[in-house]
Parts: sequence; C-alpha cells; structure tokens
Amino acid sequence: MNITYAVIDLNALQQNLQSLQQTAPGSKVLAVVKANAYGHGMVKVAETLQDVHAFGVARLNEALILRDAGIKKPIVLLEGFFNNSDLHTLVAKNLQSVVHSEQQVDAILKADLAKPLQVWLKLDTGMHRLGFPPEQFDSVYQRLQNSKNIQQPINLITHFNCADELDNPITALQIKLFKQHIKNNSGLNSLANSAATLAWPEAHSDIIRPGIALYGVSPFADKSAEDFQLKPVMTLKSRLIAVREHQAGESVGYGANWTAKQDTKLGVVAVGYGDGYPRMAPEGTPVLVNGRLVPIVGRVSMDMLTVDLGLNSSDQVGDDVTLWGEGLPATQVAKHIGTIAYELVTKLTSRVALQYRE
Ligand SMILES: *Cc1c(COP(=O)(O)O)cnc(C)c1O
Repeated sequence: MNITYAVIDLNALQQNLQSLQQTAPGSKVLAVVKANAYGHGMVKVAETLQDVHAFGVARLNEALILRDAGIKKPIVLLEGFFNNSDLHTLVAKNLQSVVHSEQQVDAILKADLAKPLQVWLKLDTGMHRLGFPPEQFDSVYQRLQNSKNIQQPINLITHFNCADELDNPITALQIKLFKQHIKNNSGLNSLANSAATLAWPEAHSDIIRPGIALYGVSPFADKSAEDFQLKPVMTLKSRLIAVREHQAGESVGYGANWTAKQDTKLGVVAVGYGDGYPRMAPEGTPVLVNGRLVPIVGRVSMDMLTVDLGLNSSDQVGDDVTLWGEGLPATQVAKHIGTIAYELVTKLTSRVALQYRE
C-alpha cells in the first residue's frame, strides 16, 4: 500500500456538478479537465461527469487521451491548435477548437479538410492573453462564416481575468462587451469560469466552463467552498512515520532553520516535495493530524516534513495525516504558502497514487 495517496471522492465530484447546475440552471456545462483534471485523473473524472455537455482541455494530447479512453462527448481545445498539421487530427477525432489568433484563422481557411471544423471564436474582453480585440472580432467572424472549412454556427467565447474579485467592476464591463458581439445566428456563447459561475450570474449565458469549482475548491481568496455547497474532491493523505521527544533549543531538518523554544513532540510525516507538497511551505503551514491542525516546523524535504505536535500530544506512529482536502481546504494551505489551491492539486507527482472512492 502507498503511504501517501490522494483520495478522489467521485461522489463529491458529482455533487459539485449538481451544485453548479443549480447555480446556473439555464446553462449547459463544459467541464474543464485540463492538466489531468487539475491532478484528479482526467479519464476517471470525464467518465464520472456523465451529465455535462462537453469537456475542455488545453492541449491536443489531452484530448486524444480522452478520445482513446472512449469519451464520445464534444471536446474543446481551449487554446486551439498550435501546429497547422494538427487540424487534420482535430477533424478526424471530432475535436473542437478555440480560434484566438490570425495564424489559426489563416491555417483553417487554407487547409484542405475532410470535414468542416467546429470552432469557438474568442473575443479578448480584457484579459489580453488570447483572443481577438473587439475591433477585429466582427471581420474575423465574417471570414470564418464564409469558409467551407468551418462548421456553422460558430460558437463564441471569452475568458475573465478578475471574476474572483467580487467588487471589481471590470467583469461587468467584460460581460457587456461580449454581449455586444453576440450574433443572431451564432452558436453557443460561453463566458464563465468557476468564479464567474458562482459570482456573476449575468455571465452564465449558454454554457459555463467550471474547472476548480468542480473539484470542490473555492476560486475566491475569502470565500470557502462550503459557502457554495462545494465539497473537496481530493484529499491528500499520509501518515506519521516517527514521533520524537524534542527538547527546547534543538533544531530540526535541513539548514536547522527552526529551533524549539520549549520542549515538545515532533511528528514526521511521509510527504515532501517529491510528492508535490511545496518545499516553499513556511513554518506554521497547517497540517491535520488526528483531527487537529498542527504547524509545519523546519524545512519540507523530498520525502518528509515535520510538524509540532505539542508536548501533551498522544499521536502515534501510523496515525492518519491530511495535507489538504476534507477538514483542511486546499485554499487555506495555499494561502500560507503564497500560492493558489489550483497549483497544489495540479502538481502532485506520479509517486502519489490516486485512490478513487465512489
Ligand atoms: C482553465 C480554464 C477554465 C476553468 O477555470 P477555473 O477557474 O478552474 O474554473 C475556463 N475557461 C478557460 C478558457 C480555461 O482555460
């Protein structure tokens, strides 16, 4: 058995989808499963989410893994294709592509395709990363509409940069700008990531694109997943492999950068940066041991980290430890580390087995 593993609660995944569907009752769902479903196991997640309309991935290889696993639903490449030669694969595998650049438009219009391609034309409403600026959008739309290589109707998409900031007025302006560019005869319109799904109902439109919320993690710094009836899908677990008496004045770990001010007991947990637990986690980062939060002390090493259990603790070697998930939201851990929960769940290494629970 693996001592360090991530429990993936597929029931919670289903429930989170239902919660999101209730939040946006008039919208279809494109479940974002890029980056191995944010570390949760892409194929298993896609197989579990039977009720979604489509899946979203970032790369062609991700889409091909889903197709090879027998996933038949629409799959959208959220960044489009990067090599013109991939266009034939897209058509052959029935994959849909976001179109965000002039290069992509030229490639599609020039290609000799066996079938028309289904596309999502991207409007840049202010993220300024991918997409056509508003002043170019309508003419690009026209060009695509006149091409035999494009399946009609064309779907429209945009992406928010500040939807997780509830009092930031930019999102409302982006919604307005997008709606000005919706065409009478366009296909599905899509704006909302998780944060916009939860906080900006005007952005729901035809199809929402949740990622992180499906996995039961709050996209907001100051609101918990529970506030939205979302349950953590991933719980990263390990065990105590040593419990040591530790005297005042003694240090622990590489660099001896933490020294006990008083006598205590230290717990050694079998998880480290070799599992994807960030080495940058500072002293005080919370870890759940036997139902109580204890602080990390000393440096996180490759295979282990140490926690201060307290002098009067009774924790034993072999006891259960939770690094994040049920009982300790990943968002809370991420805040201590100076990152976001997205990064924590996505970065587990292959040493961590995913254990699926129905
Ligand atoms: C990753 C991604 C999403 C999902 O974002 P979350 O914040 O995880 O909900 C939605 N749309 C696009 C285009 C993305 O790249």
